[in-house]
Amino acid sequence: MQNGYKCEDCEVAIWPATTRSELSWLKDRVHVVREVAKHSHGGLDMWIAEGLEFLNEHQGHSIITVTKR
Ligand SMILES: [Zn+2]
Repeated sequence: MQNGYKCEDCEVAIWPATTRSELSWLKDRVHVVREVAKHSHGGLDMWIAEGLEFLNEHQGHSIITVTKR
């Protein structure tokens, strides 16, 4: 099972290597994580960097957490 984010406006999805609960966590705290990322200089976990990039790219769009087999 893979978990990811989908942008309902653009019809695109990403599938970072992490759990659904971590993806929800990131989505709920994106404002905080974005600030942390500014000061971490590449020290973020891969899935956080990947997820954050997607959330930034689709700011203001309708993003949902999705699961596929
Ligand atoms: Zn979008």
